[in-house]
Amino acid sequence: MNDSFDIKRWIENPDELLLIAGPCSVESREQFFETSLKLSELHQVNILRGGIWKPRTRPNGFEGIGEKGLKWMKEISRETRLPVMTEVATPQHVELAIKYNIDALWIGARTTANPFSMQQLADSLVGADIPVFIKNPIAPDLKLWIGAFERLASSGLKHLVAIHRGFQDINASPYRNNPRWEIPIELHRQNPEIPIITDISHICGCREILHTTAQKAIDLATNGLMIETHCNPETALTDAEQQITPESLKSLISNLIINKSKSNNADFLLHELRSQIDSIDEELLNLLAKRSKISTQIGDIKKENNLTVLQLDRWNTILSNHIERGKTLGLKEDMIKDIFELIHKDSIDRQL
Ligand code: PEP
Ligand code: MN
Repeated sequence: MNDSFDIKRWIENPDELLLIAGPCSVESREQFFETSLKLSELHQVNILRGGIWKPRTRPNGFEGIGEKGLKWMKEISRETRLPVMTEVATPQHVELAIKYNIDALWIGARTTANPFSMQQLADSLVGADIPVFIKNPIAPDLKLWIGAFERLASSGLKHLVAIHRGFQDINASPYRNNPRWEIPIELHRQNPEIPIITDISHICGCREILHTTAQKAIDLATNGLMIETHCNPETALTDAEQQITPESLKSLISNLIINKSKSNNADFLLHELRSQIDSIDEELLNLLAKRSKISTQIGDIKKENNLTVLQLDRWNTILSNHIERGKTLGLKEDMIKDIFELIHKDSIDRQL
């Protein structure tokens, strides 16, 4: 047995921070071997990852090395004594991964988003006692994510983990995928038994913000990290911008402050709530920016049509509607009035 690390036991009791590392894609035997060997020498990585079948946005790119890569993964797993995991998106992938004794599977964001695919995977996994990690769907739809867990649980799978990899969003900047931390927090609130790990590589999409994002995930009590690692990131066939070398992984990990206690201490709760406030504020700013762009467009139309900038009827309607709506949401009338007066003033200034 190569399992110096017991994935199932960790899922049952995920006290230690789990570290999954390895390349986005298995590209060649040499690349996977060199990366994995260096990772195993850090003595900090628990599971090696590597994509064998790659979901690419457009055809004719590198779509993964396919079946022969599974053989290399297993060979390298024996050599490094680390368990290996790969992504499955079809029942054929599941069949092959199981045939080659891959230790754990993950389901990608595009697959979680599709209930038909999820059901096919669930059907193909009946009787397979293998740990499965489920990435969040691309869209910020918690029900879809939970539905994927329900489908696999109905197939009798007992060792399931969530991977938070962020959500597609045109306002995601500086991230590749908007983390929307409140969504994994809500998943945890509703399903405290499911460990959640954070795939900072696909959240960030670049190397520069990996460390701060990892620290944030840890401060929000993540159970582990998935970090794409490549022996020569610049030459990677997929996700070159976000992968780091095993050496950089070592320094990233050593610079993290790992919370000693995840229990009910006030500091931790405060931190968690403040992070939620930060995400909400970021969304508010994005929305304000979006609103002001539209109001500039409205200004152009008014100019072209010789209309006055101030349309008093419209402004009265907006204000009274928002005050009423605010009241039903438990917000104070004065506050709503102050905020919308400021927003409206800015809108008018832009149009003058
Ligand atoms: C990956 O892990 O390489 C991958 C394709 O991820 P996601 O499904 O999160 O895009
Ligand atoms: Mn990737």
